[in-house]
Amino acid sequence: MVVNLDWENIGFHYHKLPFRYISRWKDGKWDEGELSGDNQLSISESSPALHYGQQCFEGLKAYRTKKGNVQLFRVDENAKRLNNSAKRLLMPEVPVEKFIDACKQVVRANEEYVPPYESKATLYLRPLLIGIGDIIGVQPAQEYLFTVFATPVGNYFKGGLAPTNFVASFDYDRAAPFGTGATKVGGNYAASLLPGKYAKDNHFSDVIYLDPQTHTKIEEVGAANFFGITKNGEFITPKSPSILPSITKYSLLYLAEHRLGLKATEGDVFIDELDKFSEAGACGTGAIISPIGAIQLKDKKHVFYSEDEVGPITKKLYDELVGIQFGDVAAPEGWIFEV
Ligand SMILES: *Cc1c(COP(=O)(O)O)cnc(C)c1O
Repeated sequence: MVVNLDWENIGFHYHKLPFRYISRWKDGKWDEGELSGDNQLSISESSPALHYGQQCFEGLKAYRTKKGNVQLFRVDENAKRLNNSAKRLLMPEVPVEKFIDACKQVVRANEEYVPPYESKATLYLRPLLIGIGDIIGVQPAQEYLFTVFATPVGNYFKGGLAPTNFVASFDYDRAAPFGTGATKVGGNYAASLLPGKYAKDNHFSDVIYLDPQTHTKIEEVGAANFFGITKNGEFITPKSPSILPSITKYSLLYLAEHRLGLKATEGDVFIDELDKFSEAGACGTGAIISPIGAIQLKDKKHVFYSEDEVGPITKKLYDELVGIQFGDVAAPEGWIFEV
């Protein structure tokens, strides 16, 4: 049973759903965890998550298939990545099985809010790990809270896969060369709000972050990873220790090679060599695949395939990825988790 909502216009907003999962860590161990009907967290005003940004999060989606089943895409990879982020900020890891079970519990408890297959909308899950408790000095928390909540989100591309334009950021970085760029922590996002606002105020979708050391290579596309298709049909995505390792990106590397027969590599993407690309896009759970029409580089605009039309290889990658996520295309082994 699916509730009656305007699924076509659901957008990307927070909807308070009936249930979320909450578990607490204290004295070296996690409690059992439980579903809660209360969407308000009550935590100490001195929680390190609030003052010193000791927190990390994840984002993934539940998809309803044509048959009406619900499935998760590579949730084990989200669990592992959360734990990498946790290690970097001296937080306790969440066992992979606990993480997967929490996600499944939340989907099942809110099953009627998993959008219908036809809408191409999904149930977005937000796992969150925060340091809490009475601490005022700069030190790791002694207590932690792990929660997973969900909200239905719309199909990103109402009018089809439409390219959008981005602006390269020379004045601001989202992460430092040996900082926390490779971890999914709130601090990176706090740092991205100002350049993101600048981009949106100037009618760009978002900023493109360059490598923080030399500002000569592409790193991230806002909160998504970058990929380009070269004129000789190679799939390339940047490699750097300050990029967030996108699960979508690694999935596309695999699909480009094994399903589309392209050469697929991680390597440098120099901003003065963009001419070698015939197509480019942004990828991530939120962005899915968003074609990049053009990038503004100071006073120069670089157009890839077209500012209005999606390129053929980007379209093929999109169809393959989304087909797998909704259960219409056979998935590589281990990518799909039935709820
Ligand atoms: C989450 C995130 C991505 C996308 O990762 P996926 O696993 O594909 O959703 C890309 N860049 C940043 C900065 C992110 O936080």
